[in-house]
Amino acid sequence: MSSTVITGIGELVTNDPARAEQGGLLGLVRDAAVVVEGRRVAWVGPAADAPAADVQVDAGGRAVIPGFVDSHSHLVFAGDRAAEFEARMTGEPYTAGGIRTTVARTRAATDEQLTSHVARLVAEMRAQGTTSLEIKSGYGLTVHDEARSLAVARQFTDETTFLGAHVVPAGTTPEDYVDLVTGPMLAAAAPHARWIDVFCEEGAFGVDQARAILAAGSASGLRGRLHANQLTYGGGVRLACELGLVAVDHCTFLADDDVSALAASGTIATLLPGVEFSTRQPYPDARRLVDAGVRVALASDCNPGSCFTSSMALCIALAVREMRMSPAEALHAATAMGAAALDRDDVGVLAPGKAADLVLLDAPSYLHLAYRPGVPLVAGVWQAGRPVVSR
Ligand SMILES: [Zn+2]
Repeated sequence: MSSTVITGIGELVTNDPARAEQGGLLGLVRDAAVVVEGRRVAWVGPAADAPAADVQVDAGGRAVIPGFVDSHSHLVFAGDRAAEFEARMTGEPYTAGGIRTTVARTRAATDEQLTSHVARLVAEMRAQGTTSLEIKSGYGLTVHDEARSLAVARQFTDETTFLGAHVVPAGTTPEDYVDLVTGPMLAAAAPHARWIDVFCEEGAFGVDQARAILAAGSASGLRGRLHANQLTYGGGVRLACELGLVAVDHCTFLADDDVSALAASGTIATLLPGVEFSTRQPYPDARRLVDAGVRVALASDCNPGSCFTSSMALCIALAVREMRMSPAEALHAATAMGAAALDRDDVGVLAPGKAADLVLLDAPSYLHLAYRPGVPLVAGVWQAGRPVVSR
């Protein structure tokens, strides 16, 4: 097995809890080196102590971080909604109904068109440092189109999520549609999915419907996640906590009860600040959550309607500037906590035995991710030990 040592790392973010005493939340190591063997990290420590390897790469004093883990994206779709974005920016509010526009375009696309579109977006994410991602269905909304959306997504990640319950499509009643989602659609989707998700929101699905859909998914071997409390206050977050879901996503409108339920349950609140940025809505109160002891992750929610960004660095900058997370908390939320939100412990951390998913920044410190918003700082990416981006 070939080995590579990346040396001359001015600042290494490991996220390794074993290094917290000296390295803080991010387990920082200065003047560091990392040895990669095959797909895994073999060694981490001070560059002066690094063992020899077949290949040596000099980071030249720059920073290395774990690859971003984007735990929430909707990449399987066709067309775009730039006109809807323009309308929203010139005075019209965002509602869940715009999803139907993308549904029509997605149903009309071929498998090949959907696959090449996802490939383009995954490459766009990788070039910006994302090495692990989740992809949802949810723009098919028929048995056939949900199953094929997930089959397309599966070509790019194991973390696929059945989101048939995205919105009730035109021409059916909510009752009939929930029967379809929990019946034949679930049966067709389950072989291609690890997770099941519901858009629990006014204009989409209520708490009782979400409970029924998640129960059906669980009976088919899928694990639950939830879109909740994005546009209004409601019972979605408390449902997620009651069911012990790994993560509940959005969490923008939270009552005190919701915050205490999150803190008590350990369910991760995945915040998606690109959505609030792109819809001109108030941001979730990350500071309140972190201070209450809630576990917080950041993800892109990359989708054609409410947030068409694939940039985790933008999410970090927004979390720091608009949501009062510290730069360290925001990076940790975009890496280690993103992994936790997918119930993964092999990514998001740089330590022996973990996946060799690393990002070399064209900067001396991870702080530049928030300090230099909008600037492309990714100089190199290794995914499962392979160099996949370099510039
Ligand atoms: Zn979403």
